[in-house]
Amino acid sequence: MKYRSTKGTVPEVSLEEAVVKGLAPDRGLYMPERITVMPEDFFDRLPSMSLPDIASEVASVLFGEDVDADSLKALTVDAMNFPIPLVKVKEGIYSLELFHGPTLAFKDVGARFMARLLGYFNRDNKDRMVNVLVATSGDTGSAVANGFLGVDGVRVFVLYPKGKVSPIQEAQFTTLGSNVSALEIEGTFDDCQALVKQAFLDKDLNDSMMLTSANSINVARFLPQMFYYFYAWAQAVAAGNDPDNIVMCVPSGNFGNICAGLIAKRMGLPVKRFIAANNANDIFYQYLVSGQYNPRPSVQTIANAMDVGDPSNFVRVLDLYGDDHKRITADISGCTYSDMQIAETMKSALEKTGYQLDPHGAVAYRALEEGLHTGETGIFLETAHPAKFKETVETITGVGIAIPERLRSFMLGTKQTVGLPADFKAFKNYLLSC
Ligand SMILES: *Cc1c(COP(=O)(O)O)cnc(C)c1O
Repeated sequence: MKYRSTKGTVPEVSLEEAVVKGLAPDRGLYMPERITVMPEDFFDRLPSMSLPDIASEVASVLFGEDVDADSLKALTVDAMNFPIPLVKVKEGIYSLELFHGPTLAFKDVGARFMARLLGYFNRDNKDRMVNVLVATSGDTGSAVANGFLGVDGVRVFVLYPKGKVSPIQEAQFTTLGSNVSALEIEGTFDDCQALVKQAFLDKDLNDSMMLTSANSINVARFLPQMFYYFYAWAQAVAAGNDPDNIVMCVPSGNFGNICAGLIAKRMGLPVKRFIAANNANDIFYQYLVSGQYNPRPSVQTIANAMDVGDPSNFVRVLDLYGDDHKRITADISGCTYSDMQIAETMKSALEKTGYQLDPHGAVAYRALEEGLHTGETGIFLETAHPAKFKETVETITGVGIAIPERLRSFMLGTKQTVGLPADFKAFKNYLLSC
């Protein structure tokens, strides 16, 4: 299968090239050249299938022309080695718990798959070293670092702002060693991102080393997220819900996650409609209401992984619907909630149902509570474990949360970092010396 740029001004490329390059040369995002509808019998079988089996079957449709069947199955099953249960919160509302992976957030799915796919592409290229650069304000760095840890032929450089990530987040990417280097930048997250962007444009660097990104613009990170949309629907139907009345609600930042869901629907998954849940950064919500896309600087909220002012995958949504606002609003509705409303939701859900939401999941849960129609079943994506936001969550609910063992174990490691100023020359010299 070939991948085309959303800008369409450059030739289509192979999966390998799309994954290694990340962004198309015309600065467009790669999309699969065609979307194949899954066979009818797949949906009949779906409710009784396991997550690894579903993932393998979907992966073979997406990537089967580019990766041999045995390798693809093995890497898919290895990437999806943790459960993603659908948990009933109350009548008609379910939580898809995406936080049972190594770093307790949904980004583990895409990061683990991408790492294994890059490892596969490197198998015959023993001398090739792919350098993954990732700027992080917390969650992306940990998922990518853990996903790529120990993968042959790949080195990871995580850039993070000194003193601006929580100790738990920092421990998840600074204690790993091996092929993961943590660069502590004297600056903000925006400085880190600017350094990474400049590196991709720097001729000397690109001439001397192969650089790639591992954020959600990479097709190998965003497409595998489709697996759990199929699995969520399967579990809801197996639990006796109406297969044609399922609504999926996605806490959205850069819109990679919901894009995967929209493509799953295009592959035949009978999701009735989607809700894109926003915090105060409601650029997409405003687009739905007005048809106008007006990016603006993000504001800080308690659901900080969704603090995005210009969602990078918005162009993929436009591309999927031929830039047609009417068609987009027919499939997707939106919502926007303030920090106060998010906090209120976390507190009241815990009191009424006993379910502890994290701030991101809370945005989506509230959208379902307010927006479901009669007969519909709502599934919200619980994108991170509440313990990742321990202080915030405890302050709001007044109830302590235990830190899961696998999160705590990161705290026992030794921190290893390289300190750098927010200066491109220093960063470039460092990379060239590696
Ligand atoms: C990254 C992230 C999001 C946003 O996902 P997108 O794919 O960027 O829309 C939501 N919640 C959590 C916890 C995240 O880490």
